[in-house]
Amino acid sequence: MPRIAHHELVGWLREDHPAALEQLFARADAVRRQHVGDDVHLRGLIEISSYCVRQCHYCGLRMARTMPRYRMTREEILSGARKAVELGFGTVVLQAGEDYGIEAAWLAEILRTIKNETPLAITLSLGERSTNELSLWRDAGADRYLLRFETSNPALYVAIHPQRGAAVSDRIALLRELRALGYEIGSGVMVGIPGQTYEMLARDIELFESLDLDMIGIGPFLAHPDTPLGAPGVATAGADQVPSSEWMVLKAVALTRLVCPEANLPSTTALATINTVDGREHGLQSGANVFMPILTPAPYRQMYQIYPGKACIDEDALQCNHCLRDRIETLGRSVGTGPGGRYTRIPSYSTPALRSQPRFTPQDNSSSPLVVLP
Ligand code: SAM
Ligand code: SF4
Repeated sequence: MPRIAHHELVGWLREDHPAALEQLFARADAVRRQHVGDDVHLRGLIEISSYCVRQCHYCGLRMARTMPRYRMTREEILSGARKAVELGFGTVVLQAGEDYGIEAAWLAEILRTIKNETPLAITLSLGERSTNELSLWRDAGADRYLLRFETSNPALYVAIHPQRGAAVSDRIALLRELRALGYEIGSGVMVGIPGQTYEMLARDIELFESLDLDMIGIGPFLAHPDTPLGAPGVATAGADQVPSSEWMVLKAVALTRLVCPEANLPSTTALATINTVDGREHGLQSGANVFMPILTPAPYRQMYQIYPGKACIDEDALQCNHCLRDRIETLGRSVGTGPGGRYTRIPSYSTPALRSQPRFTPQDNSSSPLVVLP
């Protein structure tokens, strides 16, 4: 049984009354506190390569774009991981375009080195790699994998995410494979993709719940002018089109917290990009409990332009660290220590064998919204 009925999700996503939304955000904040506490976990993000073989219609790294590209060396990646330890982070996230120049064995050796030398949890976000590669990296010590399904609507997915050659792209199936390999799995969507309706976004949130995701990243779609979805006059869903506004993202984050109370939810860099002043804080006050400070070395940050105007691109790791810690403390929250994974937080679910067991008794309705639709 879903925690929130479909029509209610759609109703909340369409809700615009500030007082009602304040109640929704407050409810999500309370559920967040009850299930994952006041800690905000810092995940150091290292964008290890901007090469990509794919042509996603939304992304500035798509292969068709001619621009300078980089791939970090082993030493650069290891030095990023050491920096994460120095700054007190519990997790390092290695992200890249779908770059087959990142060879499986080469990366596996780096993962083993990070695991041997540091206490860090490792999250990978490297696109749709083969089962053999994902399995090798899991064996080498990778703990988590992020792969956003972007939209649960099959027609919209095919329209914005072309397959590569004859290989069918099925990110939802891949997430299930990743779980079977023992990874904690993260996914997510962009809010406001041209053609995305309220109905579709509600289905996305329902899919988060049914996949029982460990991590869920939700950010606004930000048009990149050099991509098909950033071109003038791109087709939208008309009156049913979901806007890529801050409020829309916050509604989606809050509803996601209500249906996935234990998940780790970042307040995303994309959210901070549409509201540079306090977008990050608004995310944390609407159900989020994670920040992902960028650790990518300065010369490469400018070259990892998924969308224009990306927040924090001019700061260095130290500045990002201070800025984010200040923001967390100003809200009266604490900075998390240790890996901060879903299963390191919940002792009774610390082994993969226990993960399939139900986590809530039928009487537990603490994550249902208290507020009724006007
Ligand atoms: N290549 C990997 C992948 O696709 O999963 C990881 C890197 S990719 C740049 C990470 C995420 O960036 C994507 O899953 C997508 O949701 C987000 N992204 C790409 N283009 C975007 C845009 N124009 N606006 C907002 N988010 C975007
Ligand atoms: Fe490549 Fe990921 Fe961008 Fe798609 S979203 S073009 S796979 S980097």
